[in-house]
Amino acid sequence: MNQQYIKEEHQIFRASLQKFLKQEAEPYFETWENQKTIPRSFWKKLGEQGFLCPWAEEIYGGLEADFPYSVISSFQNTQFKMAEMATEIKIGRTFVDQLIEKHIERADIVTEVSMAKWWITDLAKKVSVECMQVHGGYGYMEEYEIARRFRDTAVTSIYAGSNEIMKGIIAKNLNL
Ligand SMILES: Cc1cc2nc3c(=O)[nH]c(=O)nc-3n(C[C@H](O)[C@H](O)[C@H](O)COP(=O)(O)OP(=O)(O)OC[C@H]3O[C@@H](n4cnc5c(N)ncnc54)[C@H](O)[C@@H]3O)c2cc1C
Repeated sequence: MNQQYIKEEHQIFRASLQKFLKQEAEPYFETWENQKTIPRSFWKKLGEQGFLCPWAEEIYGGLEADFPYSVISSFQNTQFKMAEMATEIKIGRTFVDQLIEKHIERADIVTEVSMAKWWITDLAKKVSVECMQVHGGYGYMEEYEIARRFRDTAVTSIYAGSNEIMKGIIAKNLNL
């Protein structure tokens, strides 16, 4: 993906975070879910590696890093679904990238961010349903990763301000 604000050091940071999560988080998803808690030791390791709040000052355990750090068929019907989803995801990603660049330039993007929050989380829910659907009945089984993705995506339109609240902000800023 060609994101202007992502430099080589960001790519290295992203790759090492992905590797860390694959080794230190993914194998324990089920255990943590059963225990209904993520152990403190995981958060400590995450902090020690500099993955928590990397933009914070070093005195508070951060890296004083810049903003981009805080930021991944054989049937015709399946091919079409994948093509549709890839297109919509690309549109969403392009919008978010543009907003990150504007935010770095300190532009006032409250209205556009509210637009991105509701539209992209609604899209994520739609995509998660489609992805579960193409797996058939297996997609609903906990043994399949898509079941977790489907479940976890649902909350994104609620937290950090529900999508109705986002639409309220947009309407207000459009003087409606
Ligand atoms: C996993 C998780 C993590 C969270 N983390 C944080 C956190 O770190 N910090 C923090 O401050 N909060 C956090 N929250 C709280 C979160 O921000 C709220 O749940 C969210 O703002 C919705 O508020 P509410 O739950 O009170 O729902 P309500 O405000 O009661 O809304 C219920 C539903 O009604 C609808 N609705 C609400 N208002 C309107 C309206 N004006 N017009 C039309 N429909 C409306 C929406 O669909 C909404 O989903 C978290 C929540 C979850 C689930």
